[in-house]
Amino acid sequence: MQALHNKWGHPSNSKFVQIYRAQNRVGFPTNFLALLNRFCCKVCARCKGARGYRRSTRVQLHGPHKTPKAVPAPGDIVFCNFNDDSTICVVTAALLDDLFAVLMPT
Ligand SMILES: [Zn+2]
Repeated sequence: MQALHNKWGHPSNSKFVQIYRAQNRVGFPTNFLALLNRFCCKVCARCKGARGYRRSTRVQLHGPHKTPKAVPAPGDIVFCNFNDDSTICVVTAALLDDLFAVLMPT
């Protein structure tokens, strides 16, 4: 039984029954269905018992990729803090590397 199961590439029980029927029971034991009920492949049992790849909470919440830093683009309205004095500014130019932006208060 195990050899048959291996030969067919570790099918699930329902798949194995399909194969059994498709093969017209040729090469299968006569009490195949009864054997199948009791049959348990150790390899398959181990695979089924394995749990899915666990990801950290951060990945579950935010996805596997870090969201790129929000880069202000020219025309964006940003909230700036100059000397504890908050101002709403419009970005007139932005460099991607160091976020050096020329800001113009509205
Ligand atoms: Zn198996």
